[in-house]
Amino acid sequence: MNLVLGACREGSETLLHGEFGAYPPKGTRYALSLTRTELHIQRLVPKPDTDHRTVLRLIDVLGCHTMRSHMIANQSAYFCVYAYPLKKKKVAVGSGRARHRAAKTFQVDSAECYEDNQVVAEKWAAAIKCLVLGIPISSETEITRSLLPRPRRLLLLLNPFGGKGNALQWCQSHILPMITEADVSFNLIQTERQNHARELVHGISLAEWDGIVAISGDGLLHEVINGLMERPDWEEAIKMPLGILPCGSGNALAAAINCSAGFEQVLGQELLTNCTLLLCHGAVSPLDLVSVTTSSGSRSFSFLSVAWGFISDVDIESEKYRHMGSARFTLGTMVRLASLTTYRGRLSYLPALDRTAHRPILRSITMAANGSLPFQHMPLHRTVSDMGLCEERHTFCFRGVEPADEPIPSPSSPPCSSGFHSSSFNFKTLTEQLISDGKRFQGTNTAMATPTNSSARQMRGPPDDFLAPLDQPVPKSWVTVEDDFVLVLAIYQTHLGADLFTAPFACFNDGLIHLCYVKAGISRAALIRLFLAMEKGTHFEQECPHLTLLPVRAFRIEPLTRKGILTIDGERVEYGPIQGQVHHGVAKLITGSNRVKITTF
Ligand code: ADP
Ligand code: MG
Repeated sequence: MNLVLGACREGSETLLHGEFGAYPPKGTRYALSLTRTELHIQRLVPKPDTDHRTVLRLIDVLGCHTMRSHMIANQSAYFCVYAYPLKKKKVAVGSGRARHRAAKTFQVDSAECYEDNQVVAEKWAAAIKCLVLGIPISSETEITRSLLPRPRRLLLLLNPFGGKGNALQWCQSHILPMITEADVSFNLIQTERQNHARELVHGISLAEWDGIVAISGDGLLHEVINGLMERPDWEEAIKMPLGILPCGSGNALAAAINCSAGFEQVLGQELLTNCTLLLCHGAVSPLDLVSVTTSSGSRSFSFLSVAWGFISDVDIESEKYRHMGSARFTLGTMVRLASLTTYRGRLSYLPALDRTAHRPILRSITMAANGSLPFQHMPLHRTVSDMGLCEERHTFCFRGVEPADEPIPSPSSPPCSSGFHSSSFNFKTLTEQLISDGKRFQGTNTAMATPTNSSARQMRGPPDDFLAPLDQPVPKSWVTVEDDFVLVLAIYQTHLGADLFTAPFACFNDGLIHLCYVKAGISRAALIRLFLAMEKGTHFEQECPHLTLLPVRAFRIEPLTRKGILTIDGERVEYGPIQGQVHHGVAKLITGSNRVKITTF
């Protein structure tokens, strides 16, 4: 109890307090108080009837820039806080709240000369940025810009064909204005073909980047991870913080990041805005990877799932409806339900009997038999409504800000390394910047675009000490089930699609594979009920007898039917025996929030 009260007091401690004018200057004055989690804005003049104050949560804030007036005679300094708070939508959908951009500019005018006012503006900007980035400060700290790290340099890789093909448009309308406000420096590269991103990351100089961000669906990040693991220095390379900004049709990892921050489950551009906000906050969490071996001996690294049966069938067969965006999965699901297929196979796994999600787990290879959990559920890869609702839901407008809201950046503002300020966001400047960045990038990294030779493709990475070779029986400590399956899914994230809350108890680094399977005999109605409930993550409450969920460390799927589809992270791989094991926390994911629970293996 004392601890909780202590934490509250600590969170609400006033770090800075000041009285400022407004911009545009209409005689309005405000009292501002900054705590670790909030900026309180109280109007002083004209005196309001109530003591209502505006509270900006810092989780909704991207950054803060200092500025000065065009007119030299004006000795005021300004600071502008860029926030994306939730506001009521005009047309209520879902919870009826969406993020809107709010740029609040304050005038520092208490001193006679600009330099003194500027010191105060700088102090506020630095304090706000420190709190956004998680840099600890207290009321005792001498707050200056020197507390801040240099702007992060992110390599943005964009698949122009992800989803419905609007990744570039969304990048221009949402991502770049936001990351610019957060002082993130970037190079943006559009991929030209499949595996381009994989080849690009083979050649990059790790020291040049603070993170690599996939702007697409989960498939592009799969390429990036495998490209990094193919490098001779994979052990270092895979420590590069990875981010994802959802512009594909399958946006499972983005949905998991959104969920881990405690944000409401949203789709389309709302999910993109949430994820961009979190990317700018920058906190990093360890991420489990699963090494997956197929019958030809090829080994790859997976961050999301391995699927066989219903889920992979829907995923791959719905490719022909790609023009529909993620609605393709809904249609694919309906088509598949009409011709429900079962697959005979052997499923083996190494149970994680010592598993307690969110609690430390002891490493153990010797296991007893069955480790099944009391609850069961049915997963389905990316379906229902992770779809193009976004056009109607696009509620905020970057250019809707009054020009008067935006004084020019002051000379002492840290230079925005992408060369422009989003407060004066200009598409032409942006386009020029992208072109020049592209040139600079190619100039320094010519090796990246060269085609990969076969030896570079040789997979490196940690040894699979839980696995026997695929042509040999599984170790004795494993459990084997031979049956007819509707689907088998090994998943390691909470979400399998933006609105598929498939494994609510999963963590980025719990060291677990959540193995789900549905056996033959389930009715179509029961299957539909399960996956409708999955939107809210309540599917395992249905106690469906055909559905099983197991926490495991490793698994092997041996199809005994000749035809079928297998996917890794939603990408099709050769059909035949396949196995995988978890590698605990080997990668790093930009989750943006410090709420992510970190567990040990
Ligand atoms: P979606 O969720 O819409 O399927 P993904 O990010 O999963 O989006 O990408 C789909 C596929 O496109 C992946 O296999 C990825 O490797 C591939 N890809 C990436 N860049 C390109 C490109 N420029 N042209 C064609 N395919 C690409
Ligand atoms: Mg996990």
